Amino acid sequence: MQGPRYIFMTGGVASSLGKGVSIASIGALLEARGYKVTIIKFDPYINIDPGTMSPFQHGEVYVTEDGAETDLDLGYYERFTSAKLGRENSVSTGQIYHAVISRERRGEYLGRTVQVIPHITNEIKNRILLLSQLQPDLDFVLVEIGGTVGDIESVPFLEAIRQFRLEHGPENTMFIHLTLVPIITTGGEIKTKPTQHSVKELLKQGIQPDILICRSKVPLDTELKEKISLFCNVLPRRVFSAPDIEHTIYEIPQIFHRENLDSEILNYFHLGNKAGEFLLEPNPMLARWQRVVDVFRAPAQRVRIAVVGKYIALHDAYRSLYEALTHGGFARRIAVDFLKIDSERVEPENVEELLGAAQGILVPGGFGERGIEGKLLAIRYAREHKIPYFGICLGMQCAVIEFARNVLGLAEANSTEFAPETAHPVISLMEEQMAIVNKGGTMRLGAYPCRLREGSLLYECYLEPVVSERHRHRFEFNNRYRTLFEQAGMRLSGLSPDGMLVEAIELDRSLHPFFIGTQYHPEFKSKPLAPHPLFTRFVEKSAGF
Ligand code: GLN
Repeated sequence: MQGPRYIFMTGGVASSLGKGVSIASIGALLEARGYKVTIIKFDPYINIDPGTMSPFQHGEVYVTEDGAETDLDLGYYERFTSAKLGRENSVSTGQIYHAVISRERRGEYLGRTVQVIPHITNEIKNRILLLSQLQPDLDFVLVEIGGTVGDIESVPFLEAIRQFRLEHGPENTMFIHLTLVPIITTGGEIKTKPTQHSVKELLKQGIQPDILICRSKVPLDTELKEKISLFCNVLPRRVFSAPDIEHTIYEIPQIFHRENLDSEILNYFHLGNKAGEFLLEPNPMLARWQRVVDVFRAPAQRVRIAVVGKYIALHDAYRSLYEALTHGGFARRIAVDFLKIDSERVEPENVEELLGAAQGILVPGGFGERGIEGKLLAIRYAREHKIPYFGICLGMQCAVIEFARNVLGLAEANSTEFAPETAHPVISLMEEQMAIVNKGGTMRLGAYPCRLREGSLLYECYLEPVVSERHRHRFEFNNRYRTLFEQAGMRLSGLSPDGMLVEAIELDRSLHPFFIGTQYHPEFKSKPLAPHPLFTRFVEKSAGF
């Protein structure tokens, strides 16, 4: 087939309808048919990236292999597909304008007036084309336009994709619009009007959707689909119903498949399945998704994992982490229940009450001093009560501080992030971070190799001598304290290949059954079809295996 096909997804009526999960599920289905896909997200905000935004504003910052700080939707794209994503897959309005303005300052527009059309729209189209230039064997480029149709911010993006279709032809481009079909609670009536309005809004931008995916509480019947079809000018067989899921978002590829969405997309482009195993029935990849869903439908047992963090109030703030914990139970069909504990609430008097029921304790990554004392109390509780513990990034750094204070007797031990003048800076700023003043994109970011110590718990989980994991931090274990920690039983079980950076710690097995901390973020690499070994081991240990 010549060049890739392009599928654009817009959203209407309301935000948070799940465009990210929907486009990722379409990606999963196209992969199940044998096609190679990538997914790009356009975010309408002016920030260059979400790296400096509060997780309360934006949810977690997802980190790619190449160290881009991106929207959490990229996490869904990587979890649902095998697409290799990098900084070119997450583009904000800020980046688009930054590129155009920098070019203008360099004099590259040769005296012309720089305008939204064509300069901004060209930049947007070029970002879409860049993906297939980088990966020439792509069959599909899926494009998610963030925000809701009708927002001022999305106008240049909609204009750019309108032009894109004009230039590449309808045979190579498809517009999918995701909308909400609400039920009015008083009469139980299902309302299609908001969807009609949303499509009108799109038409004003010159875009007629080819496919509608309608989110609703209940499945839409043929009559409703026909009504939507008539008013929105979309073929009835291309109006899809996406009712609320029963158990897990991992049902969505199946739900779409049962509705025939993947066949309809391929029909539109006059494509069939790719050859080989993709012609088998039942489709082997869909069967693997089914096994994932089965764990949620009928788990063999449940386990309670406490997550002690600062951003507990918002599930999206630790999205990849919760997903990775869930994946950790798949091998033994264990369902994970989260005990979400706000670290600011943990006090010496209530730690037992808050954590007594936890079968495993996890402290996730974070920044700043708020809630640190509560995290230290939770870690001490896990260590002393021999409850499986997993510390990630800040959660590892806190485990080091707790050990220094309560085992090594260094009462003032701290991270220089919270106490720059501390007498015992067991966690301190990395050498290369010392001179940095800019906040955005300047941490140690992205994938780095880590050498594991043979015979360690960590090695037993991975069964590999060298692993690659993603990072996002400025501070690190202070090498001056290595011997002291080792002598007291805290093992430095993962080091950078040159031996200079401590990437992971664990407690000696004579002291604790499972106590691991990683400076890196393993949650970014866990997928439902390939759970991460550290999460698997942690969840299984917590469940008593
Ligand atoms: N604040 C710590 C650092 O910068 C930890 C970062 C994190 O948990 N991602 O090193």
